[in-house]
Amino acid sequence: MTPVLHGPRTRLAAPAPGWTVATDVVVVGSGVAGLTTALRLRAAGLKVLVVTKAMLDDGSTRWAQGGIAAALGEGDTPQQHLDDTLVAGAGLCDAEAVRVLVTEGPAAVRRLIETGAAFDKDPEGEILLTREGGHHRRRIAHAGGDATGAEISRALVDAVRLDDGIELIEHALVLDLLTDVKGRTAGLTLHVMGEGQRDGVGAVHARAVVLATGGMGQVFSATTNPAVSTGDGVALALRAGAEVTDLEFVQFHPTVLWLGPDVEGQQPLISEAVRGEGAYLVDADEVRFMVGQHELAELAPRDIVAKGITRRMQETGAEHMYLDGRHFGEQMWEERFPTILASCRSHGIDPVTELIPVAPAAHYASGGVRTDLRGHTSVSGLYACGEVACTGVHGANRLASNSLLEGLVFAERIAADILDRDAAGKLTPRHEDTALEVQRVPLLASEARADIQRLMTRGVGVLRSAASMAEAAEGLAGLAAAHPDDTNKGESPQVETWEATNLHLVATALTAAARLREETRGCHWREDFPDRDDLRWNTHLISRQQDGVLTTLPQEQQ
Ligand SMILES: Cc1cc2nc3c(=O)[nH]c(=O)nc-3n(C[C@H](O)[C@H](O)[C@H](O)COP(=O)(O)OP(=O)(O)OC[C@H]3O[C@@H](n4cnc5c(N)ncnc54)[C@H](O)[C@@H]3O)c2cc1C
Repeated sequence: MTPVLHGPRTRLAAPAPGWTVATDVVVVGSGVAGLTTALRLRAAGLKVLVVTKAMLDDGSTRWAQGGIAAALGEGDTPQQHLDDTLVAGAGLCDAEAVRVLVTEGPAAVRRLIETGAAFDKDPEGEILLTREGGHHRRRIAHAGGDATGAEISRALVDAVRLDDGIELIEHALVLDLLTDVKGRTAGLTLHVMGEGQRDGVGAVHARAVVLATGGMGQVFSATTNPAVSTGDGVALALRAGAEVTDLEFVQFHPTVLWLGPDVEGQQPLISEAVRGEGAYLVDADEVRFMVGQHELAELAPRDIVAKGITRRMQETGAEHMYLDGRHFGEQMWEERFPTILASCRSHGIDPVTELIPVAPAAHYASGGVRTDLRGHTSVSGLYACGEVACTGVHGANRLASNSLLEGLVFAERIAADILDRDAAGKLTPRHEDTALEVQRVPLLASEARADIQRLMTRGVGVLRSAASMAEAAEGLAGLAAAHPDDTNKGESPQVETWEATNLHLVATALTAAARLREETRGCHWREDFPDRDDLRWNTHLISRQQDGVLTTLPQEQQ
């Protein structure tokens, strides 16, 4: 990894910290990645502070339906899991990272069970396993039928709440990294939406910072991600000078409940496991259009299915396709997919007797803050894991149900690395923020959020072209002037203002990478470059910001 440059750092415009707190390690985010890191560090005796934007369970983890992939079944092996992951990643997975994932995954899932997560089992007490797109084996463990994430989140939140040694600050938006003159991590700044001593902007001084802030789905109008998924971790890392990679690979989930043409924000997901159990994709004439497009038909990797749906929508002029699970019968819907059944019925659709309208929506960021196999970013003392990170596991497209597993496995690796360094006396001593020079980034007003989402959906969505993305880039560049923040008028910034500014930086970096990659690969689909081009593009694009200037270049030109 290219070492971080020690030039001036950019930070969000914000009031000076009014309070400070000190700890060994501060973990940002309370999904599977953040809470697993905190629990493992705490078990070894380090002082840990978890900071999270809303309530502890407000990230994507709680919403995961399908399950967690691991070679736990008879006849399955880590090698087969690795093979399926590499195929989905379309040439850009880091094979070593995938090997770590699939070999350490089964034991990490067992430790999650020891922490308290209860997975669905057969009468003999064996964990039930299902299939999802791109997997050639049944290897997806699930809980509560289709409520896997809710159960994992419950178990981790309970364990963290029971541990007096883990300090928690909820409703706290982390703003920026603090660094010393050598560019090493010194802590972070945050804004607490509370009352009392820790209200408003404060600073945490720490020996290591672990970013576990989840995804960036809110960059687009329709997404499966919750409102907190605004790419804050990636924006913070860019401002801190860290490398960010593979941003162009945004996975659009093929089957999101279609509720109308003008929806915004989080939309209900119809898990791939529904197709895994035998539901079909059909058009308005009830033709199974995925048959013949891929040997796995409806269970092809997600990018293939999202493209298949989008293509059929274009051919037939329809706004959505349908999922047909009527042959499951009521009992199976109730037992296996209670959450999805309830969600569909609450929107007036009964999957037992009706076709479910579905269309693709932004779902998962395969890229993120670039890390090595121990979770180090290119900034000393700054770690990243979970969806905010890019470990190299997903390549150009994530294999279904690999992300909860990635969060678990790499969180444990980060905890192990921090503990090793601590034991060897190599963890940097706690020090003050002494960065030589800091440039403050002007903020965008919160109204910019909807404009960013519209521009990105229209120009950098499932289908992309040079023309569509040039329009998006131009629109993004003009937003700062169109929506300046009120701070200049003497008002204190609001959370929505900082979030809009983060979304803008992430959208700008994502668009730059997507424009540069002139090929179609994994979940990056260029209408003007329809083929995969290994000669030019079998490489990663790396974005970094220096002196406030964002650059995106192929890895070999860094
Ligand atoms: C609907 C849905 C279904 C899914 N189904 C599956 C599945 O079946 N299997 C699978 O493997 N994956 C699935 N995924 C993906 C998976 O859930 C996520 O990738 C994973 O949970 C991410 O975990 P995380 O810990 O990295 O982040 P999250 O769980 O998203 O947590 C991020 C945390 O960071 C906090 N945060 C964010 N910004 C800040 C900030 N600035 N300051 C402080 N805190 C901040 C958030 O509040 C949150 O606590 C699904 C995702 C969705 C949305």
